[in-house]
Amino acid sequence: MIIIKLANDLAKYLKQKINEGQKIGFVPTMGALHDGHVSLITEAKKNSSIVVCSIFVNPTQFNNEDDFKYYPVTIEKDIELLIKYGCDILFLPNREEIYTKSQVPKKYPLGKLENILEGYYRPGHFQGVCQVVDRLLKIAEPDQLYIGQKDFQQCKVIARLIESEGKKDQIKIHISPTLREKSGLAMSSRNMRLSKDEYHNATAIYETLLFIKQNLHIEINELKKTSIKKLEAKGLVVDYVEIANRNNLQTAQNLNQPLIGLIAASINGIRLIDNMLLN
Ligand code: AMP
Repeated sequence: MIIIKLANDLAKYLKQKINEGQKIGFVPTMGALHDGHVSLITEAKKNSSIVVCSIFVNPTQFNNEDDFKYYPVTIEKDIELLIKYGCDILFLPNREEIYTKSQVPKKYPLGKLENILEGYYRPGHFQGVCQVVDRLLKIAEPDQLYIGQKDFQQCKVIARLIESEGKKDQIKIHISPTLREKSGLAMSSRNMRLSKDEYHNATAIYETLLFIKQNLHIEINELKKTSIKKLEAKGLVVDYVEIANRNNLQTAQNLNQPLIGLIAASINGIRLIDNMLLN
């Protein structure tokens, strides 16, 4: 695996490969890699001749200082894992490579997606995500982009970004299913910060999503209220339990549409998200 730290070096290297007819698969991450990330690399290897993974803890998508400060960094282990699973290139930029002095800050047109759910509880988050993803896509110019359903709203935002940048025909988006621990807890880099007890209690998020899926006969608002109580009983502080239309993430008032359940909750200040398709 080649490790590249400079944006120009990566762009130059990949341009040559593209001219040779190689297909580039790209997996953007913030590191502290786990099997969920590995599943994206493995998927990318199936469809692309060169797999590029980036690791960059993007400051502009954090709206909580502590969350950024304590975000786990395990770079040596990440490199081992990427080599083990056949990643071809690791792009490991520093902040200046992503946010260059000449860059003009841009406002991405995300519509209603921007200020609901994650966008509501993390103001500015999705503009930050778009800043980094836009920059990474311009450097790497991949044919295929691999992202996880775990961050369902982010998937929608990235699709919108690619469309608004006029790259819909150039970049194919692959969305991989959420990998879970045996307990059902969605794998997340933030799980490393949980104590044993917190980890145990955090599985209530998955259990509550299952509860929602199995109890859609209950009136929607009642179902959401009961779900919040279930999470609170395990010591979680709930930002939202939402049952939404899977296409536009607007709150669902009835079951006659494709539905998704989404939860965001914190345990000892560690914020976790998860979702589940409901029908
Ligand atoms: P992150 O490093 O958390 O920014 O995630 C990098 C990519 O991995 C994103 O596309 C995530 O949606 C995806 N991802 C994170 N956790 C999981 C998981 N448990 N299963 C599958 N993909 C995941």
